Amino acid sequence: MPTMSMPALLASEERFRSLFGQAAVGIIQVQSGTGVIERANETFAQMLGYTVAEIEGKSFQHFTHPADIAAGGEQMRRMVEGNLASVRLEKRYLRKDGKPVWVDLTATPVSHRNGRPMQNVSVILDISERKHMEEALRTSEERLRGILDRLPIGIAKVRADGFNFSNERFSQICGYDTHELASLDKWWEAIVRDPQERELYLTRWNEACREAREGNGYIRAMECVITHKGGHSRSLEMAGVILGDDDDDYLITLVDVSQRKAVEERARYLAYYDPLTQLPNRRLLLDRLQQALAMSARHQSYGAVLMLDLDNFKSLNETQGHDMGDRLLGIVAQRLRSCVHADDTVARHGGDEFVVVLRSLGESEQAAAAGAEEVAQRILNVMREPFDLSNEHHHTTLSIGITLFHGQRESADELLKRGDLAMYRAKAEGRNALRFFDPEMQAVVEARVALESDMRAGIAQGQFEFAYQPQMLHGQIVGAEALLRWQHPLKGAISPAQFIPLAEESGLILRLGEWGVKSACERLASWANDPVMSELTLSVNVSARQFHQAGFVPQVLAALASTGADARLLRLELTESLLLEDIDDTVKKMAHLKSYGVGFSLDDFGTGYSSLSYLKRLPLDELKIDQGFVRDVLTDPNDAAIAKTIVALGTSLGLQVTAEGVETEAQRQFLERNHCYGWQGYLLSPPLPIREFEALVQSLAIAHGKTSAAV
Ligand code: C2E
Ligand code: MG
Ligand code: MG
Repeated sequence: MPTMSMPALLASEERFRSLFGQAAVGIIQVQSGTGVIERANETFAQMLGYTVAEIEGKSFQHFTHPADIAAGGEQMRRMVEGNLASVRLEKRYLRKDGKPVWVDLTATPVSHRNGRPMQNVSVILDISERKHMEEALRTSEERLRGILDRLPIGIAKVRADGFNFSNERFSQICGYDTHELASLDKWWEAIVRDPQERELYLTRWNEACREAREGNGYIRAMECVITHKGGHSRSLEMAGVILGDDDDDYLITLVDVSQRKAVEERARYLAYYDPLTQLPNRRLLLDRLQQALAMSARHQSYGAVLMLDLDNFKSLNETQGHDMGDRLLGIVAQRLRSCVHADDTVARHGGDEFVVVLRSLGESEQAAAAGAEEVAQRILNVMREPFDLSNEHHHTTLSIGITLFHGQRESADELLKRGDLAMYRAKAEGRNALRFFDPEMQAVVEARVALESDMRAGIAQGQFEFAYQPQMLHGQIVGAEALLRWQHPLKGAISPAQFIPLAEESGLILRLGEWGVKSACERLASWANDPVMSELTLSVNVSARQFHQAGFVPQVLAALASTGADARLLRLELTESLLLEDIDDTVKKMAHLKSYGVGFSLDDFGTGYSSLSYLKRLPLDELKIDQGFVRDVLTDPNDAAIAKTIVALGTSLGLQVTAEGVETEAQRQFLERNHCYGWQGYLLSPPLPIREFEALVQSLAIAHGKTSAAV
């Protein structure tokens, strides 16, 4: 190494000094082993608030912030050992006034002995300002996070690869920590468990995101119901903001609206329901009634409004207190509900007044009145049961006013008024009763009720008997149809068209039918020993309700067994509608009876909806062409065609075909020309009392050269 001349050395030292002294950065020269500051410049001294003189000669530790004494210690040690060219670190000094000052320090060794640095020079930059800003940024970020966490709405930041931020509320609302869920898809799967529902929400959400991207970036709120991790449902409002150009970078916000929904629901309930009985209130009643009227207009069907009022409710309230009154109303409401179908309305009209709206009572006014009356009777009946009011049995009754509606002829208000009027009439006429608004309707219903009770008495007193109408085949009487006749003690003969439907509705048909089958078997048994009568078949009409009752087959078999009648001569006439009701049950019952020899006729054929496929399944013996087609067979080409078709159909199935209601010779000849050889009708004879029928058969037998045992 070339040694420098003295003047050159001095000049260099001078340059160094001025550089050292005037530098804009702090510079100190430190003794490597001891850490003593040998020289410090003015900038450094100012940085620390001391004078240069106060600094020089002291260890750098003296000025170092106690927390940073060890900072960079390891690196320094390595540099002092000659193993590191320089050290850079950030640390704090303590100023003379006690305030910390952050610095960026770079230390470089400047002289060596035996390869170990003797001194080093540190260049020091005041970075307090930067540190300050960093600190401020950090606290503001922390504060922001704190605020987000405490916000009452859930917030999450999402990217294609999943959540990269979510606040506490977000996890609370769904019950899932977003760290638990690998992706947004997993999140959806967790909170909406039904795949179809999820698909629906996703479609709506994606649509909202698309709109936001095309618009101002705000994803509009959508409502959804999710399942919380704990299993319960929550109603949410989910919205968001698109964050960048990246499609999958957005913010989701969740607001739990479950409580609001519950409040809304409750408000809705209170607006439309009576809190005491849980029944619809007058407001909802009017709404439902309106709907029922519209439906009635659409389907051309009848409905009814029943206005009900408790008898003597006021006195219960006054003597036993309102609690008891409330209790009674609650039980009445329950009992009312039990009397009607789920889609009928039972409402509390106010006080002790209730309204029932019955829909779909059918297309006939009579049947609708009967249906409404039946429900009203049922209601009167269930109210007769005692009411259990705190240890005591209370009895109450109702008065009911009924009015029918058909379409929207009358307004809902008008109907309620009519129901009210009828109800007051029921009260005026002794309570615990029902009255129709329409006096004619009232009369019809009363007549029906009277007829029904007469019928009961009539059965007991033997007022019913059969008339017999001969059935012809190839010009000979081969059998008879037994047709029910009712000789009413006051009203005279009543037509089966009038009493059979009533008997079916009231269930009396079961007793009438049982009587009929038994009496037909007795008749067959009584003919068995008469050579002229013994081969006649006897047809009995069987109604649907009778046939479908559980005990029908045993009943017929018992009648056959107890009378000894020949089962092969008994023929049961069934109608198409009966067969269709429960085809499997029908086939089973027919087959069972058939195995004993009992025959079957399909009555009124052509008026129903028979299809070939089931005709083939049934063990039938005979088809009867309905008299409606026979009547106009000569004048109406359609009826003629139908009659011919039935004959062809029956014949092809191997069945006997019998025409009903043959009144003229011309009709008979037409039928014969078309290969229908069986018939019954006024042309030969109307249904006759038994003696006259037997006399007719005998006289024809004589004409044909046969003799009867009786003659
Ligand atoms: P249905 O079984 O079709 O009976 C034939 C009806 O036609 C009978 O009316 C009969 O009197 C009538 N009739 C017979 N010949 C002629 C004719 O030439 N011209 C006209 N115009 N009518 C004729 P009815 O006796 O009034 O019986 C009516 C319906 O009542 C029967 O129709 C049957 O469905 C039912 N019915 C009668 N008796 C019973 C019964 O014991 N039980 C059941 N369930 N229903 C019965
Ligand atoms: Mg018949
Ligand atoms: Mg018939």
